[in-house]
Amino acid sequence: MFRIVRHQALTPSTFFWEVEAPDVAAAARAGQFVMVRLHDGAERIPLTIADFNAVRGTVTIVVQALGRSTAEMRDKYHEGDTFADFVGPLGMPTEIGHEGHVVLVGGGLGVAPVFPQLRAFKEAGNRTTCIVGFRNEELAFWRDELGQWADELIVCTDDGSAGRHGLVTAALAELIAADRPDLVVAIGPMVMMRACAEVTRPAGVHTVASLNTIMVDGTGMCGSCRVSVDGVTRFACVDGPDFDAHAVDFDELMQRNRRFKPEEAAAAADYEHRCQVEQTLFVDGKRTYKKLREIEPTKVPMPVRDAEVRSHTFDEVSLGYSLSEALREAERCIQCSRPTCISGCPVAIDIPRFIRHLLVKDVDGALGVIREASILPSVCGRVCPQETQCESQCVIARKMEPVAIGRLERFVGDHGKVAAPVIAPSLGKRVAVVGSGPAGLACAADLARAGVDVTILEALHVTGGVLRYGIPSFRLPREIIDREVAGLLDLGVRIETDKVVGRTFTVEDLLTTRGFAAVFLGVGAGAPSFLGIPGENAGRVISANEFLTRVNLMGGDRFPDIDTPVGIGRDVVVVGAGNTAMDCLRVARRLGAEVRCVYRRSRAEAPARLEELQHAEEEGVQFMFLHNPVAVLTDTAGVVNGVRVERMELGEPDEWGRRRPMPTGEITDVACDTVIVALGTNPNPIVTRNTAGLALDQRGYVAADPVTQATNLPGVFAGGDIVTGGATVILAMGAGRRAAAAMLDYLDGGGEASPVTLTDGRLCPRCHRPMDEDDEGVCCAGSVVAWRCTECAKRSEGFAFPYGRCPACDGTLEPIDLAEPAHEAMEAVRHAFEIELGGRDFYIAAAAATDDGTMRDMFERLAAMEREHIDTLVRRYHMPPPPEADGSLNPGILQAGGPMTFDDPLALVEMAITLEQRAEQFFLERIDRAAPAARDLYCELAAEEREHVDLLVTELAALRANRRGLL
Ligand code: FAD
Repeated sequence: MFRIVRHQALTPSTFFWEVEAPDVAAAARAGQFVMVRLHDGAERIPLTIADFNAVRGTVTIVVQALGRSTAEMRDKYHEGDTFADFVGPLGMPTEIGHEGHVVLVGGGLGVAPVFPQLRAFKEAGNRTTCIVGFRNEELAFWRDELGQWADELIVCTDDGSAGRHGLVTAALAELIAADRPDLVVAIGPMVMMRACAEVTRPAGVHTVASLNTIMVDGTGMCGSCRVSVDGVTRFACVDGPDFDAHAVDFDELMQRNRRFKPEEAAAAADYEHRCQVEQTLFVDGKRTYKKLREIEPTKVPMPVRDAEVRSHTFDEVSLGYSLSEALREAERCIQCSRPTCISGCPVAIDIPRFIRHLLVKDVDGALGVIREASILPSVCGRVCPQETQCESQCVIARKMEPVAIGRLERFVGDHGKVAAPVIAPSLGKRVAVVGSGPAGLACAADLARAGVDVTILEALHVTGGVLRYGIPSFRLPREIIDREVAGLLDLGVRIETDKVVGRTFTVEDLLTTRGFAAVFLGVGAGAPSFLGIPGENAGRVISANEFLTRVNLMGGDRFPDIDTPVGIGRDVVVVGAGNTAMDCLRVARRLGAEVRCVYRRSRAEAPARLEELQHAEEEGVQFMFLHNPVAVLTDTAGVVNGVRVERMELGEPDEWGRRRPMPTGEITDVACDTVIVALGTNPNPIVTRNTAGLALDQRGYVAADPVTQATNLPGVFAGGDIVTGGATVILAMGAGRRAAAAMLDYLDGGGEASPVTLTDGRLCPRCHRPMDEDDEGVCCAGSVVAWRCTECAKRSEGFAFPYGRCPACDGTLEPIDLAEPAHEAMEAVRHAFEIELGGRDFYIAAAAATDDGTMRDMFERLAAMEREHIDTLVRRYHMPPPPEADGSLNPGILQAGGPMTFDDPLALVEMAITLEQRAEQFFLERIDRAAPAARDLYCELAAEEREHVDLLVTELAALRANRRGLL
């Protein structure tokens, strides 16, 4: 690293840096150059040595910020900063002899390197004339320094604002005519050097051109600086940079130099854009910095390996974004002032902030932001169902495809450098984390960062849980898991593999004889489920867990090179259509089998991520939707030779809104030699049965508080699949983090048990969000309807609009292309949302309209109450959070509430009462007609509106009587 000891602006665009480089300074001579590299990944910039001081051990370089790299150098490298590389001195020094009258001509960038040569020629006893050219006076520099060593200094400016008007060549021509020099040295842009050569040629004045700008590596290796001199190829970095200007083929040189022009122009424009973004988002702190119409409507596609190629290998399928693709996708994030995506992330990653860093190419900074909340960004970027989590909440998703948050997270995780961890001073407490799956890892990381001494106890010989033994390497490469788990070791977490808690030692042992102050159970739900149909115990009927474990954990795909066989045949049926089933299908395909998925519902109901389903289809997997296995068929020797399936039809929606599969009695036999059952998992009973007194729910999962993850046993916490049943990586991590926070409180309280409210820890099967106790299973996630205004015919898209009114005029909106609602209560939810939004917008507009401080305060409180109702609906019905009102008056509000008058504050309150009464009436009218699922909601909403009416009536009376109201 080379430290900058002085940095100064010579002109608005020209800067000098004095750099500590003692070896270079000791060997430097006039005319030589150095190669500078700012940082890893930056280009090598050839720069002529403008000055050097062997005593101070410094070298001075002068740079005009013209391109992307020099602009970066100008903006980011100041006194005290360092350059990554500073190589030199390179090239041959200028021959300084006693020539007589020497003229040094410098233009643009060439003015600074003229200086050491001018000084050297003068010191050698020559008469010196220095001609330097600038575009205008503002850009001129070093006139005093040059004048000190020049017998005559001629400054030229293109616009005549200083010195002579015109180009340096005109001054040179005049000089040659009046006072013929013995030597001309030209340094600067190629065109200028060529013009100088043409001016001196007729007079036969020996002329030298300094060609340092054409260098690439500068060490004689690459040959990019080759130049034809008198028809012979010479190399500027070895034979030059000074050459007889009359012998140089400038045309050839200029032609070759032009090849980078388009790239350089694009890079400069890109740099300027990033600087602007940095100024807007970081320096000025602005948000919502771009308009929706400026955004690409679809995600930047993820590059994937060819389907045919990948169906034979375990190499990763999705290849990840390049930097330019990541930046392009990041540009689709509008940096909302009230971002909603964070609430869709179970570990609450500050998504807009990490994207903000990415937007200015600060990938390390972006990683730092993600790691505040998640230690597994490369894992989660690959396997999280973002489409039902953060991306489903993305504001732009109402109009176009959401930002590809997961792909950006993966890019940042893969390419960012992890900063040294910040670990709090030791708390002197030890905690055992049982299981090294996502829940355990997340819990351990947070505890370790807070200064707890954490030991992970893992039953298997490897870490990662399902990440390692369940998810195949073509979706999640093993080295990614290794790298992310290694982050835990950096935090000081100890990991002990081959320790089966419940067998090797019990939870009670951990809390007593082994001296742990608390225990976290993150043991997953690893026990398999079977179908319970005849023939299921035949040899080649295996569970998904067994199949995947044999391949992923024991390397069965490499049998017999590796000892574990997999034991499947050539014709495989996989039962189920979740992510696990997709993994089994695709692994079996890679082992060379013909594979078929049998699933009792339709493709639309398949729980697997759409992306996984599509990948499986592309890789040649066959699907038999709406078929349910009723028996496994075997031959007389008990060997599997088929599955008997019954065709199903979709019936009425179940309590989750998914249509039930109904048997039709139509039976078919499907030939196969292997059946893999991928139907979800059960809690592994080893820990639960061997932990005395541990409360379980009715399904056998550990009962834990949904907020603190505390179990009924003091000091014992649990989270992840062992509490929820098979869910997702990120939900398990979220539980691990919640548990860590509660465990810290617990440790802080000296070991007092946290309060425990036992719930069944349900997850929505559609969007996988944890469900509140009052959650009725009506999932509106991702539910967007297209509406048309009955008046202006404008199309709008969204879940609902205030009062069901057109945002452009006061027309009524009617749904168009309304997909079949996932649930009969959906319409009620939509109405509720409409009315609450209308109320909020009205109060915000009323607060903005009134000059009276007390009234404004009251309307703001009422708006806050409406926001609370909206938040409840959003949470309870898994809805996309609505955009914040901008305070302007939607004409629909006026229409719904009668004429609005701003002059009289009391009239505004009266109008609020009218609106609330209408809302109450609206809900009351629907209670009797509503379907059962909607009735309770209407009752609840009507009651809320009544409360508002009562409150406002009291308020109005108080205002009229000049008394203090309730609000
Ligand atoms: P696990 O990951 O199961 O980890 C539990 C750990 O505890 C294991 O390492 C286990 O060996 C250890 N353990 C168990 N018993 C003991 C004991 N007695 N003593 C010590 N250690 C013990 N989710 C997604 O988000 N995206 C996907 O694409 C996805 N694909 C999946 C594919 C498959 C095949 C499977 C099975 C699941 C998939 N999931 C996916 C679900 C996800 O992997 C799980 O929800 C998540 O791993 C649960 O994390 P966990 O920490 O609770 O448990």
